[in-house]
Amino acid sequence: MPSLKNLTVPFKPTFRNFQPLWIYFVKNRWALVAGVLSLLVVDFLQLMIPLIIKKAINILVVQTSGVGALLVKQGVTIGMIALLIALFRYVWRRLLLGHSRKVEQGLRDRLYGHIQTLSRSFFQNTKTGDLMSRAINDINAVRMACGMGLVALVDGFILGTAAIGFMMSIDWRLTLISLIPAPVVVVVTRMVTQQMSARFERVQKSFSDLTEQARESFSGIRVIKAHQREGWEYGRMKARGEQYVGESMHLARTLALFFPLMTLITNAGLAVVILLGGRYTILGTITPGDFVAFIAYLNLLTWPVMAMGWVVSLIQRGSASMRRINGILEAVPEIQDPGGENGRGPQGKRAEGVSEKAEGSIAFSGLNFRYPGQKEYVLKDVNLKIRAGETIAIVGRVGSGKTTLLQIVPRLLNPPESMVFVDGRDIRNLSLNTLRKKIGFVSQDVFIFSDTVYNNVAFGTDDVTDEEVRQALSVAGIREEMEALDKGLGTLLGERGITLSGGQRQRLTIARAVVGDFPILILDDALSMVDTRTEAGILNRILDLRQDRTNVIVSHRVSTIRRADRIFVFDHGSLKEEGTHESLILLRGIYAALYEEQILSESLENGGVISS
Ligand code: ADP
Repeated sequence: MPSLKNLTVPFKPTFRNFQPLWIYFVKNRWALVAGVLSLLVVDFLQLMIPLIIKKAINILVVQTSGVGALLVKQGVTIGMIALLIALFRYVWRRLLLGHSRKVEQGLRDRLYGHIQTLSRSFFQNTKTGDLMSRAINDINAVRMACGMGLVALVDGFILGTAAIGFMMSIDWRLTLISLIPAPVVVVVTRMVTQQMSARFERVQKSFSDLTEQARESFSGIRVIKAHQREGWEYGRMKARGEQYVGESMHLARTLALFFPLMTLITNAGLAVVILLGGRYTILGTITPGDFVAFIAYLNLLTWPVMAMGWVVSLIQRGSASMRRINGILEAVPEIQDPGGENGRGPQGKRAEGVSEKAEGSIAFSGLNFRYPGQKEYVLKDVNLKIRAGETIAIVGRVGSGKTTLLQIVPRLLNPPESMVFVDGRDIRNLSLNTLRKKIGFVSQDVFIFSDTVYNNVAFGTDDVTDEEVRQALSVAGIREEMEALDKGLGTLLGERGITLSGGQRQRLTIARAVVGDFPILILDDALSMVDTRTEAGILNRILDLRQDRTNVIVSHRVSTIRRADRIFVFDHGSLKEEGTHESLILLRGIYAALYEEQILSESLENGGVISS
């Protein structure tokens, strides 16, 4: 149990976490006002009931004739009140809980919209399970705080003070005595909710771990099955599940303790009231009607007292969740547009010898690059110029820095200023939109969306025609296969549709890049899963189509590399050799050695017939 000292919950920062939600409260203000008014009407009507009971009892005690008719009148009044309570309760539930759903929707849209702007490094450092838990659990907790939290706050305060007021009007001494347990209730509530808040955070954390585990085991199912590790994976999932249940049980135990404890304390007050109030009634200090009404008010007070306790926990939960959501909303994309409208920022240094007019030129000027937080440089003093319209191959052993170099061009990784230039402009001074519109990028890991073949190729661009999509599929060597599907290009792919092979996925991704007709096309080992002959065919078609465009290709296959105008050879992050295929063979350096190895593996792939 936390000590009393640390029970001083920092309320201000708690509420400050909710600041981003203010705009939804302003937007929904009329619904909120009407909702709160309906809630107040319900409270008012509820407060009327003990008064009617009081009247009825007094009639029974005092009146001697006409009791029946009078009681009927009171009964009908209570019936009418009950009807009105039902009506207004419906109204406030719709309006106030509806408001909380709108907050939920707004927050979710904002969170997702913001997450999309974040850079790759954010996703590398954040677990998907964490993001999903934010999007589900945390947003739920915020919704509860904005909906039921608000209701309990208003209800608890208004109904509570009004009930106490009515009790005071009956007898102030009795009221004070019956309120003796109240401070105890407040302290116990604060202690329990404090603990609940900490436990709730742990539940959230273990839920996020569980989600991450589930995601990982489903997306890695092929590897798991291939290695027959279902049992092992099941064990890992079970352990996470048990941990989650354990944490939830902890929370449930605290909750289970909380409500009975509250009822016990408030009922202790009732016992005193019956003893003392009964005595007052006998002595004639208060009427029997007052006595019964007083008990009815005390009963009515149970909910506000609990509501106050609940409010604290709802708001604390919501606040903890908001703090985590704010953590994401405040995350700044590591890679940002330069200052100035549309990237017209300071011009910076220009690349020498590269014409500004040409579309599709790339220049690296003394580029040094290391990954954020790493000591070692992955690229060291890289100087190379690619002219617009050239086809370039980049070659090197695994880990030599090829992928890193290519990912820097569309700024998927952030280079230092004045070291990388596209069309003569420092890419750090170009807006991301302008830069990325120039570049088609196909990486090693392809992604197919759960959508139609057509949409996977057109990929959100409206100005692509059906013919262009089909032509791109032809270039990528997959048109016939796709057209032969049940519903042709309208066939659903991915989780909701058919599963493609690795090679088909790669070819479809190539089609997506080709349809964009970008001045620069970067293929980073983009056809590793298709056979050599198919790869050669596809590349020939791409290069024929893009004769006057810039093409940068990383591939291990000799047949692909040979077609390049120039070849750059990387080793340990440095550019070591440069030239045409023939000149590099004559050099008898790294390229020549790699070439020998490749010839051998390609001939093995082609059935052992050595052909170069
Ligand atoms: P290649 O494409 O030639 O195989 P990479 O560019 O993928 O080479 O990798 C170059 C070096 O950068 C390797 O030493 C690799 O370990 C390192 N590296 C790649 N990605 C990251 C990353 N996200 N964080 C830190 N180091 C990385």
